[in-house]
Amino acid sequence: MSHLFLRTLRDDPADAEVASHKLLVRAGYVRRIAPGVYSWLPLGLRVLRQIERVVREEMNSIGAQEISLPALLPREPYETTNRWTEYGPNLFRLQDRKQGDYLLGPTHEEMFALTVKGEYNSYKDFPVTLYQIQAKYRDEERPRAGILRGREFVMKDSYSFDLTDDGLAESYRAHRDAYERIFTRLGVEYVIVSATSGAMGGSASEEFLADSPAGEDTYVRCLESGYAANVEAVTTLAPAPVPIDGLPAAVVHDTPDTPTIDTLVAAASQILGREVDADETLKNILVKVKQPGGDWELLGIGIPGGRDVDEKRLEAALEPAEFAMLDDTDFAANPFLAKGYIGPKALLANGVRYLVDPRVVDGTSWITGADEPGKHVFGLVAGRDFVADGTIEAAEVRDGDPSPDGAGPLVSARGIEIGHVFQLGRKYTDAFEVNVLGENGKPVRPTMGSYGVGVSRLVAVVAEQQHDDKGLRWPAEIAPFDVHLVIANKDEQARAGAEALAQELSDARLEVLLDDRKASPGVKFKDSELLGMPLVVVVGRGFADGNVELRDRFTGEAREVPVGDAVGEVLAATRR
Ligand code: ATP
Ligand code: MG
Repeated sequence: MSHLFLRTLRDDPADAEVASHKLLVRAGYVRRIAPGVYSWLPLGLRVLRQIERVVREEMNSIGAQEISLPALLPREPYETTNRWTEYGPNLFRLQDRKQGDYLLGPTHEEMFALTVKGEYNSYKDFPVTLYQIQAKYRDEERPRAGILRGREFVMKDSYSFDLTDDGLAESYRAHRDAYERIFTRLGVEYVIVSATSGAMGGSASEEFLADSPAGEDTYVRCLESGYAANVEAVTTLAPAPVPIDGLPAAVVHDTPDTPTIDTLVAAASQILGREVDADETLKNILVKVKQPGGDWELLGIGIPGGRDVDEKRLEAALEPAEFAMLDDTDFAANPFLAKGYIGPKALLANGVRYLVDPRVVDGTSWITGADEPGKHVFGLVAGRDFVADGTIEAAEVRDGDPSPDGAGPLVSARGIEIGHVFQLGRKYTDAFEVNVLGENGKPVRPTMGSYGVGVSRLVAVVAEQQHDDKGLRWPAEIAPFDVHLVIANKDEQARAGAEALAQELSDARLEVLLDDRKASPGVKFKDSELLGMPLVVVVGRGFADGNVELRDRFTGEAREVPVGDAVGEVLAATRR
């Protein structure tokens, strides 16, 4: 340590909010260069390399082959798939001296499809899985928490190519299993959540989320069944339809100054002489939607008034179309829209597409806008008084909502996305017309899977999950050094003994960090806690009696062992 390129800091960096960010900077693992752009110093780089090693081992074990594509890429392939445009401001674009357009790769589906197309041409060549571990570039809107959300970050991305859907399912399964092994080896607590509602066929896409309150992803799970899903992917358990016969006719009431749900609920309670629940009202939200290459079109969305629209769920439900809220000119152009009093009737009568929450089943009766300022209609029955064009998953999901599998209530938690497995299908092989000769002489088109692990993000995730109030704590598998040997005795003999012990440990193929600095034991112990090697060996006062101290950074346990046993004890403790 007397010549290690390391300066630990006493204070947290001013821009840091989450623990892993504070600690990785204070412990001298990373340094900020620009927002979302970080340098790796020796200790940080060692952890990063260790995680890469684990990922590489598990990728190789499923037969994936490592290659390395450039990060600097020409525009054309991304133009072919329209991602040059679709990626929007998240894409780093640049020009060369001849004004040719380039980008810094955010992910490499295009290049892998083209690479396989370039080399392979027969069914005999398949299946094949390729991967790389490489810097990715995304101009994230909110780079955050140091390396947790960077604009330059290291990803392992792999791509499988199969000729059949069954083959793809198998490649997908192999990756999913490998990811489970990777995250288990890294000691990460995680859940696997479905990332799509399953409408497009089973487990086409799943995300691995590390449990952490510092995470940006909200997911829900059902403790009874183990169901877990991204909030975007949760499907609403629709109630059974209600018989329509005998329901009273709808009545329009004057409800002056009730443009919000709260004011409406108060007015309705007065009119009906009982406490009305917000979920008895049907709130109609107007947005405009544009399909890729299409024009803006109005869309009405009806949801129970007690809930808000969850924009992320709405976005996922409308994908690949984009949406925007209406502005004053839109309202002016569509005078049938009575702002604050919009009902299903005017929408349907004017040909506006109208989608409702799945809870709006036939026979349910609603208090909703009567399409005139200051008026609402009571007892408007779905399936009788209006028929929506379909359903949409746009309403917020709440704790206590029933799980889609009917097994019990949902509870929400936060997580950090550490991996993603995705059955892509033929989107990219279609775009590049990747054909290979089939067994029967006819051309076949390979189907792809794409799979990502956030390698640099994992450094922060492990730090986030494993730290304590004293500092970092690395699992043995990925610690920068196996053992931290602290000389806490000024005596010349102790110093020589410590150096000899360091040599013996390293002869036993352990990586040793030797604190040989001329600093006080207190400073050295504090640093050993901050830096977080799993095992600390102290050559201190006990050395005169032939003993050293072994400290376990995880349990905090300390015990004396004879110097002669130290190597064996350390080997046993590090399980190498
Ligand atoms: P997020 O929702 O966190 O932005 P994503 O859906 O964009 O992630 P993918 O495109 O699936 O992520 O990328 C694969 C993996 O790369 C993610 O699971 C995540 O672990 C990691 N990753 C993505 N963006 C970043 C980033 N800005 N910084 C660090 N790691 C990232
Ligand atoms: Mg992202």
